[in-house]
Amino acid sequence: MESPNECRRCRRLVRYREANRARHPDWHNGPVQPEGPLDAPLLVVGLAPGLKGANRTGRPFVGDASGDLVQAALAKRSQPAVRITNAALCAPPQNAPTPAELAKCRPFLATELARPSVRAILAVGGVAHVQVLRALGLKVSDYVFAHGAGHALPDGRMLVDSYHCSRLNVSTGRITASMFEAALDSARAFSREVLHDGADPAAEEAACA
Ligand code: SF4
Repeated sequence: MESPNECRRCRRLVRYREANRARHPDWHNGPVQPEGPLDAPLLVVGLAPGLKGANRTGRPFVGDASGDLVQAALAKRSQPAVRITNAALCAPPQNAPTPAELAKCRPFLATELARPSVRAILAVGGVAHVQVLRALGLKVSDYVFAHGAGHALPDGRMLVDSYHCSRLNVSTGRITASMFEAALDSARAFSREVLHDGADPAAEEAACA
């Protein structure tokens, strides 16, 4: 598989990238690579780079309001190490990648999920939740998205959901910093545990939902 840096699979997103490059030549305007240690036990998965955030800075969840919320939460917590990526690595118009674009980008997320160090995944938003499940080859309807829910996965890892911390969701009160931090802390706790050591995954899922 090619490096995401060179990727031109999504024609619409490449056109958008090139238009933004012409308008803002000092911005990153390209696929935003995952960031964080390769052996991090916790993987945070967002939706896609925000136009003026990650697409500008070249760093996931850095440079806009939603990035500020995520980075502030992470800054208060030094452990465990966290790696951050997005369901789609390129900025989409209106922050909305199409299903076809998400499918094309899924192999890059699958590579991240294949790291044996990843014990827990925090899906920031419903799109990320679905993208993670599909990248793992799991049936989406078996894992209903809900803020704060934890889903025990067949491979012993845990998927935790958070509402997306977009400016709209924050301004409408759908999510607050403390709500995000609670979901993050749940994922952090699971990332420290090794599941399936005699425990019942279904019971664990019910306990944290
Ligand atoms: S969104 Fe993903 S698959 Fe599409 S062009 Fe960007 S890196 Fe490639």
